[in-house]
Amino acid sequence: MRFLGPRYFLWPVLVAGAAMTVAAAPVPLVIAQPLTAVQGQLLITALPAGSRELRLDGQPVHLDADGRFMLGVDRDFAGTKRLEWVTKDGRSAHRDLVVTGREWVIDRLPARLNPPADPNAPRNLEYEARREAEVARVKAARASLSPWPFWRAPFQWPAVGRISTHFGAQRVYGDVPANYHSGMDIAAPHGTPVKAPIPGVVRLAAGPFMLEGNLIIIDHGRGLFSAMMHLSRLEVKSGDIVAQGQVIGRIGSTGRSTGPHLHWGMTWHGVRVDPEALLPPMPKDQT
Ligand SMILES: [Zn+2]
Repeated sequence: MRFLGPRYFLWPVLVAGAAMTVAAAPVPLVIAQPLTAVQGQLLITALPAGSRELRLDGQPVHLDADGRFMLGVDRDFAGTKRLEWVTKDGRSAHRDLVVTGREWVIDRLPARLNPPADPNAPRNLEYEARREAEVARVKAARASLSPWPFWRAPFQWPAVGRISTHFGAQRVYGDVPANYHSGMDIAAPHGTPVKAPIPGVVRLAAGPFMLEGNLIIIDHGRGLFSAMMHLSRLEVKSGDIVAQGQVIGRIGSTGRSTGPHLHWGMTWHGVRVDPEALLPPMPKDQT
C-alpha cells in the first residue's frame, strides 16, 4: 500500500489562511488576499484545519478534516470565483479565487480542410448506436463520488516520452474552432508500460472504443478521474485498486490515433483539467 507510506503524510501543506486578515468584529471573516489559479488547473490547496462547509460559487466542495481540498478550473473560464466556508470557531468566511488566462496552442487552418457536414448524407445508425453505448459506459464510469483520499498523493509520470500534444491545444478552421484537446499526449513506443500516476480504483477497463481505443478510467476519489486511452493492452480490470506506479496497461494506437501514444485526460466533477501541470519534471526513464 505505497500510497499510505510516509511520503503521503509529509507532503507539504500550503495553508491558504497564512495571509488572512482577521477582523476583530464577528462575522463575516473576509480573507482579503485572493487565491489564484490558471485556466485548466486542478488546484490542490488547503484552508486552516477544522474549516468546514466549503462552497465554490455556491456549490459544495469536499474539504478534508485537515483543510485540504481540490477544485478544477475550466479551460475557458475567465474571471473570479468565490469560496465560502465556515471557520473552526463557527464564523462564515469568504475569499476570491482569481483565474488568470493561459496561452493555448492554436493551429489556424483553412476552412476548406473541415467542411460542414452534409445534411443530406445518410445517417450511419449502427455507428450512432454503438457510439451512444460507449459514451454511456464512460459516463457511468465517472458517475461515482467516492470518499477515497487517493487524490492527495503527489503525481508521477504514467509514461515517459515526448509530449506530442498539450492539454488545451486547438485547431481553428477558418473562424470555426474545433474541440480543444482534453488531455496530454505522451508519445512512446508501442508496448511501453503505462503506470498509475496516483492510486485509484479502476472503474472501467475496456475496449476498443471507436475514439478512445482501449480505455482505462481510474477513480482517485472526490470526483477526480483519470482516463488513459489508445492502449494496446489492458493489465487491470474494473474494480481493481491500483497502487501508484503500478503497470495498468501498455501504450498503443487503438481508436482514433495516428501513432503510438498515451492520451491522459483528467476530470474533476466533469471539469477537464491539465494533468501536465500536476507533474514533477519528467524523469529521464521509467525505471
Ligand atoms: Zn490526445
